Amino acid sequence: MSSHTTQQIGDYSRVESPSEMILSATSALSSAVQTTLGPNGMDKMIINDTGTVVVTNDGSYILKQVDIENPVGRMLKQVAETQADTIGDGTTTAVILAGELLQTAKSLHNDGIHPTKIIDGYTKAVNHASQQLRNYGIKADSGDKARLRQVAETAVTGRWDSNHTRQFAGLAVEALQHIDFDTSRLTLKSYPGGELQESEQIDGLLVDIDTSSTSIESVGTTTGGSLIEPAVAMVNDEIGIEVPDCIEVTKLQSTEQLSELQSHEESQRTAVIKQIIDLDVDILVCQKSINERIRNRLVNYGVLAVERTRQDEFDTIARVTGSSPTQSVSALEQDRVGHAEVVEQRAIGPTSGVIIRGSTNEAQSSLLLRGGTDHVSGEIRRIINDCIDVVRLTAQNELLIPSGGAAAVALASDISDYAVSVSDRAQIVVEGFAEAIELIPGVLAQNAGRNPIDTIPTLRRRHHAGEHMIGVGPDGRPKNMIDAGAVEPAIVFYSALKRATEAALMMLRIDDMFMTEGSDTHGERGSPHGEYNHSGQTGGGYPWTISH
Ligand code: ADP
Ligand code: MG
Repeated sequence: MSSHTTQQIGDYSRVESPSEMILSATSALSSAVQTTLGPNGMDKMIINDTGTVVVTNDGSYILKQVDIENPVGRMLKQVAETQADTIGDGTTTAVILAGELLQTAKSLHNDGIHPTKIIDGYTKAVNHASQQLRNYGIKADSGDKARLRQVAETAVTGRWDSNHTRQFAGLAVEALQHIDFDTSRLTLKSYPGGELQESEQIDGLLVDIDTSSTSIESVGTTTGGSLIEPAVAMVNDEIGIEVPDCIEVTKLQSTEQLSELQSHEESQRTAVIKQIIDLDVDILVCQKSINERIRNRLVNYGVLAVERTRQDEFDTIARVTGSSPTQSVSALEQDRVGHAEVVEQRAIGPTSGVIIRGSTNEAQSSLLLRGGTDHVSGEIRRIINDCIDVVRLTAQNELLIPSGGAAAVALASDISDYAVSVSDRAQIVVEGFAEAIELIPGVLAQNAGRNPIDTIPTLRRRHHAGEHMIGVGPDGRPKNMIDAGAVEPAIVFYSALKRATEAALMMLRIDDMFMTEGSDTHGERGSPHGEYNHSGQTGGGYPWTISH
């Protein structure tokens, strides 16, 4: 930040007033993303140096794209990135909370409270919050479609019009339930063009023939149709005429020699075809190319020949059908041939493809997303990804909390009550922490065009009266969020709060800042990695998972 002067100390430049620098970087970032928070968040337009324009109100995406030079800003960005990578949602919340906790720390410090006391108070407060959060949750059942849809819809409210967000939420839930929430069995394909409502969930693996390298020689009669319980054989290597390892240049002396060679090749082709037919193969999937004549003849025998299959699709087909790929056709045996339930060929939007459906315990799901321009299809992909993240988290963690900052208000009240039991100056700090987390409902109210000074006292009063589900509704008014169907995985807020507090604590420990020469210093020392890895992300580290 240009307003900060530096002075040379040996090889280092000492930055004066690190706390000022920390604060200005934090508040700049935090206020940049505040207006994107919640259902009334505004969009931002991001233009990169190549002129690409992206319009989004996805806070994490915005932070990812913005080039931040300030080291403190970069640490905050890393908070958002870690939240995005491990949880997927709650990134804006994490950055806003970190910013507010640092602002609060600054005013506590101005009031004469030493940073070590602030660290002590924040640690006590966040631990208390972690224990209390489960009291405000409801348990979700991964079979409860309607509830899971609410979770997905809540995560993306305001990102698109409500009809479409409902549709996207539905697609995500359908796809995930089908594959028992195992996202490694999910393929996402988006195609610009067409209508958003043409997006669909496909039960099975969708192999795109036009845009991937995979190509297919269809059997005339099966085009647009389907094969029921076809036998699937898979070959890893090229299928063609075997050529000797060392290439010999032979001059053909006579027509006899030519026909001898031709018949040798022909017998090789016949052997390949015979092997496939004898094994009753309906579909031959080859990772490399298949000799054209062989391909044509296979088609005549009614065998669907799929060649140059992309490696990931090839592996999935093997898993889904239970086939074991071999190096050559001659190595194929009956027990290496697998079976699909149905293989269907059809036009899919602007392209054509094959849908391969395995047995039920090898379920696979594909989401085909349609719509608008590249910009639109990119944003839809981000929206669907967010839906997928929260639905998966719900299935894994089960605990849901009311949205609209309801849990933050409830925790703030708990933490304030708890503060009374803290004996020394840390009591004031714990109070400050409680107030800081109320910024979340405050920003939600503000973004809905309300004044937080009116909203927050109302929320506090109603929570005090035992209405713990009251949060800021999409119209900015206090509302019972469970009744309104706005719920989110507890882990999203929990982890945003933990991460934000850890970042604040880390920065509070800094009393001096030095700039050194050399480009990788920030990457190693300045990076909050390591320091952050024990934020409760190791499986089962959440307070409520222990209890059930
Ligand atoms: P983040 O990056 O933190 O996930 P979002 O822009 O997704 O930011 O906003 C999340 C906030 O919006 C959370 O506090 C959540 O409770 C709130 N929110 C989401 N949906 C609703 C809704 N339908 N009504 C009220 N608040 C909502
Ligand atoms: Mg979100």
